[in-house]
Amino acid sequence: MSTLRFHAVKASLNREAVRVTEPARRSDIFGKNVFNKLAMRQYLTKNALDAITEAIEKGSKIDRMTAEHVATGMKEWAISKGATHYTHWFQPLTGSTAEKHDAFFETMDEESAIEKFDGSQLVQQEPDASSFPSGGIRNTFEARGYTAWDPSSPAFVYGSTLCIPTVFVSYTGEALDYKTPLLRALHAIDNAAVAVCKYFDKNVRKVSASLGWEQEYFLIDHALATSRPDIVLTGRTLLGHSPAKGQQLDDHYFGSIPARVMSYMRDLENECMLLGIPVKTRHNEVAPNQFELAPIFEEANLAVDHNSLLMDVMQKVAKRHDFKVLLHEKPFAGVNGSGKHNNWSLRTDTGVNLLSPGKTPMSNLQFLTFFINTIKAVEAYEELLRGSIASASNDHRLGANEAPPAIISVFIGKQLTKVLTELETVTKGKLSPKEKTDLKLNVVGKIPEILLDNTDRNRTSPFAFTGNKFEFRAVGSKANCANPMMVLNSIVAKQLRDFKIEVDALIDKKGMKKDDAIFNVLREYIKTSKSILFEGNGYSDDWKKEAKKRGLSNNETTPDALKVKLSNKAIALFQELGVMNKIESEARYEVEMEEYVMHIQIESRVIGDIARNHVVPTAVRYQNILIENVTGLKTIYGDEFKALAKEQLMLIEAISGHIEAINSLVTNMTEFRKKYNKEPKIDKKAKGYCEVVKPLFDEIRYHCDKLELMIDDELWPLTKYRELLFTK
Ligand code: ADP
Ligand code: MG
Repeated sequence: MSTLRFHAVKASLNREAVRVTEPARRSDIFGKNVFNKLAMRQYLTKNALDAITEAIEKGSKIDRMTAEHVATGMKEWAISKGATHYTHWFQPLTGSTAEKHDAFFETMDEESAIEKFDGSQLVQQEPDASSFPSGGIRNTFEARGYTAWDPSSPAFVYGSTLCIPTVFVSYTGEALDYKTPLLRALHAIDNAAVAVCKYFDKNVRKVSASLGWEQEYFLIDHALATSRPDIVLTGRTLLGHSPAKGQQLDDHYFGSIPARVMSYMRDLENECMLLGIPVKTRHNEVAPNQFELAPIFEEANLAVDHNSLLMDVMQKVAKRHDFKVLLHEKPFAGVNGSGKHNNWSLRTDTGVNLLSPGKTPMSNLQFLTFFINTIKAVEAYEELLRGSIASASNDHRLGANEAPPAIISVFIGKQLTKVLTELETVTKGKLSPKEKTDLKLNVVGKIPEILLDNTDRNRTSPFAFTGNKFEFRAVGSKANCANPMMVLNSIVAKQLRDFKIEVDALIDKKGMKKDDAIFNVLREYIKTSKSILFEGNGYSDDWKKEAKKRGLSNNETTPDALKVKLSNKAIALFQELGVMNKIESEARYEVEMEEYVMHIQIESRVIGDIARNHVVPTAVRYQNILIENVTGLKTIYGDEFKALAKEQLMLIEAISGHIEAINSLVTNMTEFRKKYNKEPKIDKKAKGYCEVVKPLFDEIRYHCDKLELMIDDELWPLTKYRELLFTK
């Protein structure tokens, strides 16, 4: 083992679990650092509290006076929690969260100072925004952007900073972040779903989308992780031979959690509790050192904020435990990657989960309406949904023979398939009273019973119905959930709007009864959305062929998957719903393509550097040892040395071959990078990086990994897979 590796491994072995002080009850600390209703009641006047509650529930504007009151109360509360600074907390398109801290501290004159925080500081800020990606919006329009308070997501104290969730927009109003279009999409689905709910229940006033994410991650000892330049710079390993043991024994999944990890998890969960993130489950995942954390679901905007916050908190807590969290979708070749299932549903202000079958035939018809409309929406916009989860890192999972494929399909299970088949035979036009009764009693009315013990699950489906929610499984572990949630809620909103128009037309123009009209429209939807339903093995090659026949897209790479964002259909969709205008849609395409190029570019530089400056010199050193050995044998044995040094001579040659290959591949790769860097068109540039530069990684890796197997373990400078994955 090389000295560097030796010390890293030794350091990790010597570490003990950090002691974590547990509260008597977790519920005692839940939301303690959140400016929630409880805190607001204590720190705000009744008027301010009412105004902010209305702003949260109805999206109404908050006037200046109220803002002043809220700011004062919030500041007092935050100071009582030990905060000295405040920040507008937002989610720029870089994929992480951004904050710029300002102190409450303000001097009055030369001798005295106060803590100050007023309404305008709460409501609006101007971060130095020129370095955030904007897809050219800011250059074309206004040079500046500002952050604005989002009262629907409560402020919280983290460390010594009051964090105020905000949107980030340009002065011309274009969204520069993930949150703005998400909020607009949630507004669109609220309106569209309420209108449809009115067919069933006139009392419904608001429908909120809910999201429950499941965060997968790898936890690696800090010293081991930092000994690898690829992990430090790209969040994943770019080379490394598979260990003799991988995940084939399945002994990690649901196995007992190691003490050090358990201590980390408890610490993390306590932090989450304080921040009001309702984490609930934890367990080992399939790969060694892979774990999962999932909360109780929440309103989608809040859940998105909580996931973004969590990803940040995970890293910070990990430092205390000498761990590094790898959120990358594929940190290690040969073992499972990580995803982030997005469980999604719709909930009314009357407390009904619209994707949960109810107790009466009527509520089940409502369930079927939302269920079938969701399927129809996915069918109509499958390619856009695929585009919403595209990234350089997620490309390693989707379609790469792991996790769901790059083809979007919907799994609903045997029982519901049967229900749809029966509904498909509903009479065209008016239904006879007998048929309607039959349907309600025997088909619609039976759903809760058939679902009760319907546990069939298809783990290979990217979009599956799981009893009372849909689970979008193709989302990457590193992703900001806002993007897929914005798209999913938009496409379902659009579909519900269309549904309402069609049903109303049948009622108004054809004189149909409401139920007849609903059955008629649903019947047609079932017929036309069949191509998206798939119950088989999504990983199989047969499915690829079948999906192609059905006309489903199969965009395996990010540049291909993102193209759909520029389609007239996608632009029109977002425009119609008021989620994004054309400029915003185009800007996002550009930002995401640029981000893709940057990621591949960095990985390319890193693998080039490791191969040339770490692997090749080590290979040369080992080769010299071999040469010395051969020369020695020759000195001792004369002509007989050839037989004795046979293996060594073969190794010497093999090493030369690999060195030669690595050097020429890296040179080629650098030349290609130079070529595509000069390419002004982002789509061509991304295509070059994707189809020419990136495939060279595997070739370079092949030779490096071969050398890893040949070279003396004593000399090998890079911490090996077995050390990264099995040191606990
Ligand atoms: P599993 O899928 O592992 O069996 P659950 O069914 O309990 O576990 O749910 C997994 C995730 O789905 C959890 O994060 C949970 O909060 C979330 N979830 C459950 N119900 C809903 C819902 N109505 N809307 C959104 N997410 C939900
Ligand atoms: Mg799940």
